[in-house]
Amino acid sequence: MNSRDFGSLRLISGVGAKAPACFLVEAHGRKFLLDLGEGPPPGRLPDLNGIGRVDALILSHGHKDHVGGLQLLERLGSPPVYATESVARALPVTVTTRTLPVAGRTELFGIAVETGRNGHAPGGIWLHFSTNGGLLYTGDFSAESILYHYDPPQQPAAVALLDCSYGDYQMPLAECWNVLAPFVARPPLLLPIPPNGRGPEIALELMRHGIDEIHVDDAMRNALRRLCGNDSSSLRPGLSDEIERLADIVRPIDGARGIMLAGAADGASGASAQLIAQMENVSEVTILFTGYINPNTPAERLTKSGRAQTMRWNVHPLLPDVVTVARTVHANTVVPAFCDRAQLSALARALAPARVTMDGPIEI
Ligand SMILES: [Zn+2]
Repeated sequence: MNSRDFGSLRLISGVGAKAPACFLVEAHGRKFLLDLGEGPPPGRLPDLNGIGRVDALILSHGHKDHVGGLQLLERLGSPPVYATESVARALPVTVTTRTLPVAGRTELFGIAVETGRNGHAPGGIWLHFSTNGGLLYTGDFSAESILYHYDPPQQPAAVALLDCSYGDYQMPLAECWNVLAPFVARPPLLLPIPPNGRGPEIALELMRHGIDEIHVDDAMRNALRRLCGNDSSSLRPGLSDEIERLADIVRPIDGARGIMLAGAADGASGASAQLIAQMENVSEVTILFTGYINPNTPAERLTKSGRAQTMRWNVHPLLPDVVTVARTVHANTVVPAFCDRAQLSALARALAPARVTMDGPIEI
C-alpha cells in the first residue's frame, strides 16, 4: 500500500477532558470534521486554529456538546453539514444539510460510510468509515437504553474513537430505577432533563411503574410527539404504542405537584430554569439532576449548596460495553473520548491488547 493512501485523525477537542466534541479526519485528499460542539463548560468552543477550510461537517447527534459550535462554520469555509433527518431538522435554517441514514450505508468523497443507531438520542448515530483499516466514531452511545435503539457496530475498524464518558463505571441502567424510586415516592419532584435524551426514557420508566402524575414542559411533550412520528426510527422495536400512550397521559406542569420533567438538563435555560427560580425556595419540592453537572450552571450551584440531589441515569456506555465494541470491531487503536485523562490507565488495562491513546494525530 502506498503511504499517501494513509489518512489521519486529529483530536481537536473532546479527548483528555470532558469538553465539546470535535475531531478532524483527513483521508482521500479531503478534510472533514466529526461533530462541532459547545461546552462543557458552557461557552467553551473547540480551537479551530490551523484547520482551514474543510469539505464537510458530519454530526453524530443533536446534543449541544456535539452541534453547539455551528457558529464557527464560516471559519471552516461554510461546508455542507451531514446529519440524519431528525438532527438536521433542529439546525438553523441557514445551514446547508445533507441527509445521512439512521442505519445504513452511504458514500462520502469516495469513502464508504456505514451508520447505525446509537441508543442515546433521537436521530443519533455512530459512523464507520472504510478508510484503510476502518475508522469507527461512536459519538455518544448506550447499549442499555430502554427507549432508543442501538445497532452494535460490527465492521472491522483498526481505529476506534469511542464514547468513554463514564470511564470505568459499571452500574447497569436496570439499577438506576432503584436509586430514582425513593425520590419518585416523595413528590413533588422536579427533574431537569434533556427532552431529546433521557427525559422521555425516564418518563417511560415512570409510566411502567404505574406513576400517572407525570407533568412535562412543552419541549418534553414535543419530543414525545416526535418519537411517535418522525423520530420513531430511533425507537427500540415494539415501543410505538407505549410511547403514544405516554404522550397521551402526560400533563402540563401546573404548580409544584407530581413528577415534573422539564428541559434543559442543567437548569440554565428553558422551562427548568423558570421552574427552579419558582421552586428552589419551596422546601417540599425535591430537585434532582440525573446527568453530568455542567460547571457554572444552576445544576452546579444547587448541588454544591445541598439544595438539589444528583444521581446518574445511564446514557453512556458502561466499560464492558466499550470493551465489547472495541473487541467486536478488532480495534488496534482505541481513542477514549469525553472522559478525563486520569481514566487512561484503567481504560488501557480493560482494553488491552489494543493500544489506548489520548494523543493524536493517529494514522488511519
Ligand atoms: Zn449526547
